[in-house]
Amino acid sequence: MTTEFKSPSKPNRYAPRFTQVATFLRAPLAETLDDVDIGLVGVPYDGGLTNRPGARHGPREVRNESSLMRMINHTSRLNPFELCRIADVGDVPFSEILIIESAMKEIQSFFTQLKAANVLPVSVGGDHSISLPILRSLATSGPVAMIHFDAHTDTWADFQGSKFHHGSPFRWAVEENLIDPKKTIQIGIRGAQNITDGWDYSIEKGMRVVFIEELLECGTQAIVEEARRVVGDSPVYLTFDVDGLDPVYAPGTGTPEIGGFSTAQALAMLKGLRGLNFIGGDVVEISPPFDVSGLTSLAGATILYEIVCLMAEGFGPATTQHTP
Ligand code: MN
Ligand code: MN
Repeated sequence: MTTEFKSPSKPNRYAPRFTQVATFLRAPLAETLDDVDIGLVGVPYDGGLTNRPGARHGPREVRNESSLMRMINHTSRLNPFELCRIADVGDVPFSEILIIESAMKEIQSFFTQLKAANVLPVSVGGDHSISLPILRSLATSGPVAMIHFDAHTDTWADFQGSKFHHGSPFRWAVEENLIDPKKTIQIGIRGAQNITDGWDYSIEKGMRVVFIEELLECGTQAIVEEARRVVGDSPVYLTFDVDGLDPVYAPGTGTPEIGGFSTAQALAMLKGLRGLNFIGGDVVEISPPFDVSGLTSLAGATILYEIVCLMAEGFGPATTQHTP
């Protein structure tokens, strides 16, 4: 008896989930960008970390844990894989990974290729410094809106003499006119700091900063409504730092802060963002060496799936053409 050879680039999604080469959400591995609407990208870069290391291993572990994901969303009943063509487009290739400015250029260059091919990116980091070169590639027609889940505002200035690190991407995104601070909301902010520069910068520039106390007092639905009000119908980038989650739910991260929101609250907020004009998204700061039982990677994989669902709906029957 012979079995027909099937390329690992075209996996059978109904096969047992623990089999074959792991890709993000068990999506096919793209051989070209021609037939891709949403590209799932690994960015295994953590040269911007200021504390516990390991986020460079995030993409591999999220691919592994995302083998657990199935297709049909239990709340929307939609299957994103039926709405558009979703593929794993591999990792950003690096040739100068130890030089942060060069690595950022390599990230930007990869995402510029995706944009040129009309591929909407959803990325897995990597540390949060990767969002700046991604925004540089996407926000080429003016500043975009942003929804940002995190314990930290990531609008701090230099650290140890370096302008670029995982605590500063959105300060430079404002300075470079990539995001509109008045159309930016930061959700889940908390944790003691030695200086207040980052918090002050966000507030002075007009970002809507939702500290964790407000979220816990007002509830996820109020925060969803506020996020929708802030971004309106502008093109919007969604960035999710897993340290926004309480470390009980996401211990595998570089700068954990206790007292965060739960995975259930995170999913409730994400599910409340349907119908917005998403141009891309990322989930970052998963550090497998600090993870316990793969739970942080599984949380990251599930957040990745929900972001993909939000973006796939833009390709649904009602709107066949996505307009970034
Ligand atoms: Mn953070
Ligand atoms: Mn962050």
